[in-house]
Amino acid sequence: MKASPRMLPLVEWLRKRESAMARLLGKFVRAESPSLDKAAVDHFGGIVAAEWRRRGARVTLLRQRERGDHIRADWNPRGIRAGGQILILGHLDTVYGRGTLARMPFRLSRGRAYGPGAFDMKGGLVIALFAVDALAAARRWPAKRVVFLWTSDEEIGSGTSRAVIEREARRSDAVLVLEPASGLDGGVKTGRKGVGEVEIVATGRAAHAGLNPEDGINAIHEIALQIPRISRWNSPGRGITVSAGVIEGGTRTNVIPEKARVVVDVRAVRAGDMRALERKFRALRPILRGAQLQILGGFNRPPMERKTSAALYAKARSLARQMGLRLREAYVGGGSDGNFTAALGVPTLDGLGAVGENAHSHAENILVRALPERSALLAGLLATL
Ligand SMILES: [Zn+2]
Repeated sequence: MKASPRMLPLVEWLRKRESAMARLLGKFVRAESPSLDKAAVDHFGGIVAAEWRRRGARVTLLRQRERGDHIRADWNPRGIRAGGQILILGHLDTVYGRGTLARMPFRLSRGRAYGPGAFDMKGGLVIALFAVDALAAARRWPAKRVVFLWTSDEEIGSGTSRAVIEREARRSDAVLVLEPASGLDGGVKTGRKGVGEVEIVATGRAAHAGLNPEDGINAIHEIALQIPRISRWNSPGRGITVSAGVIEGGTRTNVIPEKARVVVDVRAVRAGDMRALERKFRALRPILRGAQLQILGGFNRPPMERKTSAALYAKARSLARQMGLRLREAYVGGGSDGNFTAALGVPTLDGLGAVGENAHSHAENILVRALPERSALLAGLLATL
């Protein structure tokens, strides 16, 4: 398919807004929004909500007691009552603590925009707003109601937002996720591993390490013995990873420790492997006599399997071609809220957000010139789904 007169004007209109997009990104990045800081997330949410109200969306704040409020923006310029819904997902929170901006200020340099959360995923929030602007300017109205859901706790596992995401997804014909793209060529994500966290807590018995060591049961030793067991469950060929990420235990060196724990990151490509891995963890038994084990947690996000993305990806790739752009797909190990919606069987395409590098690090940045292109792609999807 060649560049199309129906799609090209969207890209061209947006390319003229590149610097306006970068300015709005600057405003968003400067409003820091660490997941655990409700006041900060709500402050940023207020800025985002105001942008949506200005565009005529009906904005509802889904109030949360401990986390930031989620924002639901219903953009329905033609007042459609029936005829389906498209859900756009994104998150307001970032992994950066308050004050990070002082060491890592928002800045533009050599075509990149830097700053905490620029890539994951405030760039995505900017892309959505300008997609709506471009459609309004071209008077191209979506055939379906479009609901934008911006949640406050994606980076910490979506504890308060998962039910809301699933409720909206069940009402939707498609879910588009504005998480960062894969690679500097902007791959969209058609598959994601299932992700979880398992905590193994060992309880032994405290004793003096010199006076009566025979009365003690060393919880650290117990954990240390369990780790080689679980690390054997790694199976790179099947896409299963098991990695001890945090370990803790003991009080002082001359005390035989009563408690120790390890928190393990677990990932799997297949839902069946995910369940099997959970069963293996639950079946772990203590190795040291008298020790006790407690297994907590499990998979938090089920795998996003390619079959739920294939048709949307084909559509997006064809639209990209009509805009004179290239699009590729990627499979990634990291989970997102797209895992929840795909697991419900709702067609889901992820990684439609900003193009950039170094998410979750001091060098997080995006390619500014890709902002209009991604926005045009989203606008094209909204106009044709
Ligand atoms: Zn993200």
